[in-house]
Amino acid sequence: MDLHHDPSCPFCLIEEGKAPAFLIHNDARTMSFLDIRPFAEGHTLVIPRIHIELFSDLDHDTLASLFIAASEVARLLKRRLGVDGINVLVNEGKVAGQVVPHVHIHLIPRKPGNEPIFTERVQAEESTLEDLRQKITVG
Ligand code: 5GP
Ligand code: ZN
Repeated sequence: MDLHHDPSCPFCLIEEGKAPAFLIHNDARTMSFLDIRPFAEGHTLVIPRIHIELFSDLDHDTLASLFIAASEVARLLKRRLGVDGINVLVNEGKVAGQVVPHVHIHLIPRKPGNEPIFTERVQAEESTLEDLRQKITVG
């Protein structure tokens, strides 16, 4: 496969074997390795081998491979580390907290008693939801 890399991207360096990583899972289109600054023990990143910045720009084959790998690694974390649950998360863009500009799925193991990632949720007005639905889908 002809892989597009960015020489300044830390995840491309890992993909090319030019930087070390604690690899968990590999296949033709993806790699999975431990996060060096984990939010929880076993925090794993799943990346496409190709350098693409944004999740919403991925082609369907890469997207499918990425989620299949993420699901396999999630099973490994549960089976091998006794993890009870996992937050599966993508930060899309800087404003959403994306620091590394190479798509990655975070698999964050959770245990009983952990704080939920989403807190302080407030019930929305139906009219607001309908306005938003129209903005997103109509036209
Ligand atoms: P983001 O905030 O972009 O969604 O997440 C990037 C993640 O990559 C962070 O959790 C950070 O700890 C991790 N990270 C950054 N550089 C490296 C690296 O060189 N190797 C590994 N294994 N993880 C990295
Ligand atoms: Zn990259």
